Amino acid sequence: MAKLKASLTSDQLMAYFDTNASTELVVDASPVGLAAILYQITGDKRRIISYASRVLTPHQPGKDNPADYMSQHPANMSTLAAEATSVTESYVSFITSHAVPKAMTLTEIKQQTVLDNDLQQVIGAVVNNNWHAIANTTAYRSYWHIREELTAISDGDILLRGNRLIIPKNLQQRAIDIAHQGHQGIVKTKQLLREKVWFPGIDNLVEEKLSKCLPCQAAIPSDKQEPYQMSELPDCPWQNISVDFCGPFPSEEYLLVLIDEYYRYPLVYVVTSTSAKATISKLEHAMSLFGIPDVIKTDTGPPFNSRDIC
Ligand SMILES: [Zn+2]
Repeated sequence: MAKLKASLTSDQLMAYFDTNASTELVVDASPVGLAAILYQITGDKRRIISYASRVLTPHQPGKDNPADYMSQHPANMSTLAAEATSVTESYVSFITSHAVPKAMTLTEIKQQTVLDNDLQQVIGAVVNNNWHAIANTTAYRSYWHIREELTAISDGDILLRGNRLIIPKNLQQRAIDIAHQGHQGIVKTKQLLREKVWFPGIDNLVEEKLSKCLPCQAAIPSDKQEPYQMSELPDCPWQNISVDFCGPFPSEEYLLVLIDEYYRYPLVYVVTSTSAKATISKLEHAMSLFGIPDVIKTDTGPPFNSRDIC
């Protein structure tokens, strides 16, 4: 246990693959899951390069089910050998150290997890495989439906949902603040947050908080913008042209980029203004070289919504 605690607090980072180092692949299977960890040995240190795990089937909970313990503890996939145990420790350490949001420490999360009433009840239920004991509690209502994804670790100071750290109540607001820093809107902030952490009501809390944030409201349209769509190939060159600005750059210049959708050939003008006037003069130059296209595609923002351009 002391070793596990040490490895949990250690600063174990994902290493890059080194073609000169010796490589080991450890795989493990249980009736409920598969796990694989690729690690390399440099000196006397073992560093995880990558890991993968899969839960195979849903299971029936119950004390008589021998698979139950395993599926309740997916990170603890093997109890067969010391070798596998140490790999499991690395795996858990890997998950926990990578799931900690920036500007928050694992020590803080552990301390608050110990102080969090709900989390302590859930950890007790997971460890003892006895959800009866906490029936009718808030903790039961929030966690029972995801019980198969939960793993409790070490001295009851870490609870995982799959690969994600469950954040105790006292730190939830801060976890959201951290993910919210870039003001990327509700959808992105939720994504960012849920990559690494989870707690009950996470989506509602993000929505509640960000719905009052003006910069995030402004970010909503760009969330809904589709990524580049494939458009149909025109019949000939210079028939369909798309026009867009890139910048401003530190020099306060912009690039006016015209792309012929047939050849995908870009025509780039450096401009100091995105005004309709400046844009028109460049478009006229392009047309004097290649002729007048059938279709010019733009976004609907300025200057393309200007009367001068129509
Ligand atoms: Zn915001």
